[in-house]
Amino acid sequence: MTKANKNVNFGYYSGWMLTKNTWALNFMGGSQFIYLLEGDEKAMLIDTGYGQGDLRAYVEKLTDKPVIVVNTHFHVDHYGGNAEWEKVYLADHWEKDASPDYQENDKKFPYPDYEKVVIGDGYEFDLGGRIIRTLRAEVAHCSSSLFFHDVTNNLLFSGDEFESGQTLMFMGEPGTLAERLHNMKENAERLYALCDEHTLVLPNHNGAPIAKEYFLDYMGLVDSVLAGNAEIEDDLNHKYIDNMPGHEKYCRVRYGGASIFAVREEVLQAPEIG
Ligand SMILES: [Zn+2]
Repeated sequence: MTKANKNVNFGYYSGWMLTKNTWALNFMGGSQFIYLLEGDEKAMLIDTGYGQGDLRAYVEKLTDKPVIVVNTHFHVDHYGGNAEWEKVYLADHWEKDASPDYQENDKKFPYPDYEKVVIGDGYEFDLGGRIIRTLRAEVAHCSSSLFFHDVTNNLLFSGDEFESGQTLMFMGEPGTLAERLHNMKENAERLYALCDEHTLVLPNHNGAPIAKEYFLDYMGLVDSVLAGNAEIEDDLNHKYIDNMPGHEKYCRVRYGGASIFAVREEVLQAPEIG
């Protein structure tokens, strides 16, 4: 990183260097993270936020390398600024997770018809001395999640599938909650197997890095729901979702450090569906 100091405020964004040539970017005071990784030849931006402010100008303050843009998944708080760039790499089924007005959003930016390049499991980016490997997640939080594994620096980007606050499991994805929980466990097992004692796990919300032990707690959470002995809390204690229409039907399930929001009725039915 050659163009900026190690602590930067610019426009709506702030950022700090997390490890050498890895930046965590964050909206001013917000809970969301965007990551910028720099290799010897190229940089990679993981997610583009809500599309507020001028993210590209901020990113170009931090790196003078050409920037590859990827999405962990196609929710609006992750793809909102995509159209500031000419091309974005993302997963198949992204349309299932897109907000209905996503094309309107893109018109605010210089590249409303930006190229969408669909990638999947095993796809590798070589940033120059820094290899980033893609893992296609099974459908859990949403239909279009990718995990990114910086194999050179032992960093694991878990998107919204695993984080320290709560994983939202009610957003109209295909399949029953039970199926998606099975998928969540499979995802957790796969990511945990990539970790050693030095791995940094980097989600997009509510704090980063997080301990790899969260994956074990998510596995335990899935087992508890499917066994019918989940710890269910009716109080979501979430400043946005508590105000959403229909929030009464959701509950929080907790297991150790892991937590999900799901439709209470589906949580109660999950053991039967198995
Ligand atoms: Zn999401």
